[in-house]
Amino acid sequence: MSVSITFLGGAGTVTGSKYLVRHGGKALLVDCGLFQGYKLLRERNWQPLPVAPAAIDAVVLTHAHLDHSGYLPLLARAGFGGPVFCTAGTRDLCAILLPDSGHLQEEDAAYLNRHRLSRHQPALPLYTRQDALHSLHLLQPRPWQRTFEPLPGWQVRFSRAGHILGAASVLLQVDGRRILFSGDLGRPDDLLMRAPEPPPPADAVLVESTYGDRSHPASSVLDDIAAPLSRLAARGGVAVVPVFAIGRAQTVLHAIAQLKQHGALPSALPVFLDSPMAVQATQLYQDHRGEHRLDSAALQAMARGTTLVHSVEESKALARLHGPRVILSASGMTTGGRVLHHLALYAGDHRNMILLTGHQAGGTRGARIAAGEKTIKLLGRELAIRAEVVQLASASAHADAQQIEQWLTGMQPRPGQVFLVHGEPQATQVLQARLTGHCKVRIPEYGETVAL
Ligand SMILES: [Zn+2]
Repeated sequence: MSVSITFLGGAGTVTGSKYLVRHGGKALLVDCGLFQGYKLLRERNWQPLPVAPAAIDAVVLTHAHLDHSGYLPLLARAGFGGPVFCTAGTRDLCAILLPDSGHLQEEDAAYLNRHRLSRHQPALPLYTRQDALHSLHLLQPRPWQRTFEPLPGWQVRFSRAGHILGAASVLLQVDGRRILFSGDLGRPDDLLMRAPEPPPPADAVLVESTYGDRSHPASSVLDDIAAPLSRLAARGGVAVVPVFAIGRAQTVLHAIAQLKQHGALPSALPVFLDSPMAVQATQLYQDHRGEHRLDSAALQAMARGTTLVHSVEESKALARLHGPRVILSASGMTTGGRVLHHLALYAGDHRNMILLTGHQAGGTRGARIAAGEKTIKLLGRELAIRAEVVQLASASAHADAQQIEQWLTGMQPRPGQVFLVHGEPQATQVLQARLTGHCKVRIPEYGETVAL
């Protein structure tokens, strides 16, 4: 009896990761991600899967980012009732991210209905906050490096992938085959997360290729933010830092705390974290000590130096303060959230700063600010950008091409077959060329089924 994998997402794109493994009448889904970005991709979220959700026996998640977990509420609502195995960190982050995703889906549908922008009357959310809360009951955390059986006779083990809290590579053994799913791989030199563990031996590997055609700059986040923020403090301005709630926010907070300790930034420079999701996520770093590099002293320094902003009233009150300050707020690409209000207040003054902390996807406001546009549309008006714009080059949470190659070629013996997933076509092709000397490399297509 053969083992097959069907690529239901994360093939030719960085979103929608879903890999269906079938053997002996059983079906296991590794990752259950949403398609995001271009409309053509997002429409796939509305198409039925080629397998009935009720016919899937179990799900295993590599990590909590929505492009890996965000389809789960829909799968559950459509009839899937089996267990969803993940690490404890992934469970905790899904409990923050999935209900928020449901809430955003409801808001989007309400917006379309209010402005009659949909050909569907009424437009419905892909799923609701309630669907997401319901799906959380299916999550079953499992410890690191401990083999468990998601289905009788199938074995799975999690090893640390170093990408975000809870992020795992998944080794699946079924019918004598060993299949390794890299998940999103972190960087060995990350400021916050510990390095990915060396991969266990496997016959076939699905490896991510997000940065398959790029190499990270040699500078660190510490180098990148020290000079701009000291400039800002000296001229008494306000830095607005759009952040992603998980990972990027904590990296920047940790970097600022370290720079203050080393005297590279004034210790009195006030720092505010104005994002309820980021506040919740930051507290999780206390619970998952083994996965990141922050010891008790570093966690305390970060907590001492940061004012957590909870309510909308507290957020508005920040505008009444005087003197230099740093405000971290979501969303990271300034597509929505409280950061819009801070931009509206501060972007027009040349003493202030907009510090962009990550990749800004094409078409977003963040990308236009990064490109140096002098005005952007925001909250219904044209806003002049006079603040200094700084973009961090070094804050990616993904391994670059060389780091992926090193991770993969660290595997002994070499795998018989490598599938490149989770990358745009250009990145995937460049990485394929780079790896071809080492092993047999394939780029699977969306919807393709491969027998192992
Ligand atoms: Zn990810």
